[in-house]
Order: sequence, then C-alpha cells, then structure tokens
Amino acid sequence: TTDGKPITLHGNIDRPEDIRTLRKFADTGVGLYRTEMLFIEKNGWPDEETQFKTYKRALFRLKGKPLTIRTMDLGADKEIQDTIDQWPMAHNPAIGLRAIRRCMKEPESFIPQLRAILRVAALGPVRMMIPMLTNIEELGQVKNLIKRTKQELKQQKIRFNKNLKVGAMIEVTAAALSADAFAKQLDFLSIGTNDLIQYTLALDRIDDEISYLYNPLNPAVLHLIQLSINAGKKANIPVSLCGEMASNPQYTRLRLGMGLEYFSVQANSLLEVKHIINNSKLSRLRTQIKKILEHQSTLEIERELEVLNQREGRKMVG
Ligand code: PEP
Ligand code: MG
Repeated sequence: TTDGKPITLHGNIDRPEDIRTLRKFADTGVGLYRTEMLFIEKNGWPDEETQFKTYKRALFRLKGKPLTIRTMDLGADKEIQDTIDQWPMAHNPAIGLRAIRRCMKEPESFIPQLRAILRVAALGPVRMMIPMLTNIEELGQVKNLIKRTKQELKQQKIRFNKNLKVGAMIEVTAAALSADAFAKQLDFLSIGTNDLIQYTLALDRIDDEISYLYNPLNPAVLHLIQLSINAGKKANIPVSLCGEMASNPQYTRLRLGMGLEYFSVQANSLLEVKHIINNSKLSRLRTQIKKILEHQSTLEIERELEVLNQREGRKMVG
C-alpha cells in the first residue's frame, strides 16, 4: 500500500496446470488449490501416489512460492459422476454430506489425501486447509486423524512434514460465529465468501432465481467477515479471503479497510486487485470503511462504497 503495509496476494487454482496462467499475471503463490477437481477428473478418490505426484507438480511449478492445498470439497455443486449415477440425490446437498463431513464419514478413503499432503509438505512451503468445518469437535476429530496419519508415516519411515500448518475455511455461519475458538486451534483461517453468503442468507449459490439476494455487502455477511478477521488478529494467526468476493476489484478497498492483509483471487483478477492495493492508503481506508459499515442496509453500503471507489479511483496513478 502507499503507506507501506505489505499485503499478500495469491491465486486460486483447480489443477497444477492452472499455475501457468497464474504466473502470466504474477509471480506469486496459491492461496486455494481446490483438489476436488482431481477427484472429479478421476471419477473417484484418487490413490495416495496419484495425489502425491499431482500436488508435487503444483509445488514445483510454483518454484518456491507457497501452496495452500484444500482437502477435497465434493458435494453440492461439485460431484463425482459415479455418485450422481448411483446415490439417491440428497434433498439439500449443499447442507448435506459435503467436504470434510464426507471425508470424516469415510476416513480410510480420506487418509491417502492426508498422507499425500503431509509428504509433499516435506518438499516445500505447503499448508493444508480444511473446508466446511462447522464446530470445533469436528476440527478435533480431523486433528486426531492427522495425528494418527503422522504416526503411521513415521512408523513406515516415510518422509513427511511433522510441522505442516493446518488451517480452516470459514464458510459456514456457525464457524464464523465461533471463529475465536477455531483461531485458537489453527495456524490460519481463510474466509470462503461463496459459501458464507449462501449459508448466512439461506440462498442456493447456483440458483439464478434468487441471485438478486446474493450480495457480499449484506451487513450480516460483513459482520461475520469482521468477526473472522478479528478472531485471527486476536490469536495472532493470518486470515485470508479466497471466495469470489476477493477477486472482485469493487471490494478490494472494503477488504483492506476491514483489516484483511491476505487475499487469494482468480488469476485474471490479480493485476487489477494488485493495482488498487498499490494505490491505497490503508490508514485512510480504515477510517472511511469503518464509517460505511455503520450503515445497516446493503443498498446504502453499496452506494457509499461506490462513491469511495470513484473518489479513490480518480487519485490512482497509472
Ligand atoms: C468459498 O466458498 O468461498 C470457496 C472459496 O470455496 P468454493 O467456492 O470452492 O466452495
Ligand atoms: Mg466453499
């Protein structure tokens, strides 16, 4: 920023090949690697070696930049064809057996992914991120499984990173409300606004009929984002934002003003978001955004943010 605050800007990927596109825009790391795409392409749970080789390819393509691997988030809008063919469709798949819920239901199928991530983390800067956590008991179960997996790797004398950093996505409303408790037990948090908006506003994120209500500027959503940021600061751990909201340059100043120092965005948003950050004075934004967030209606927040964006935009160089 113009007042010298370092902000981390990473990219989101679905597969190692996406790193080529990412590097066209910036020489940076990955804040969200959606591994479920590998599962969808293989039409099932890939074995440990397939996962290890794939994650290693991603890590090596990054040439020393950090890689945040998210454990698989299958279910709802992302599903394996075999499951669609064979299982009866859940009435509400988005609030059903999705992501970490599904992994913990089938721990033996999940362990190869944990092993692959633990192993690849011995080769470079890798972090592991858990999606869709709802409560800290669930987190406790995941941590126990990680511990057990580490013990097995150790017994088998297989190289792994025993200090692998583990973080959680804050994307279920309950997790945002309990962000303090999560932050105390984790190395980092990452706010997934795509789902946080869906769950908080009771809106199916892929249903066009109700998309008019799907708005990141809803004060309830902003309040939950603020709680998550504050929880990270209190526990002294990094908090990032990796949902679509991070990629939209209209919200860059808002996020900075709310105190976020780390975003992960779509490759094609990197340059524009970076340009805004480089031209922003953080101390001024903080005061301006604080005032805007006093409003209680989405429309008012939207209007005020637009005025701020236009005013600040006119001052930008280049
Ligand atoms: C999110 O929910 O904001 C997110 C980044 O995860 P996904 O879009 O993969 O559900
Ligand atoms: Mg999500």
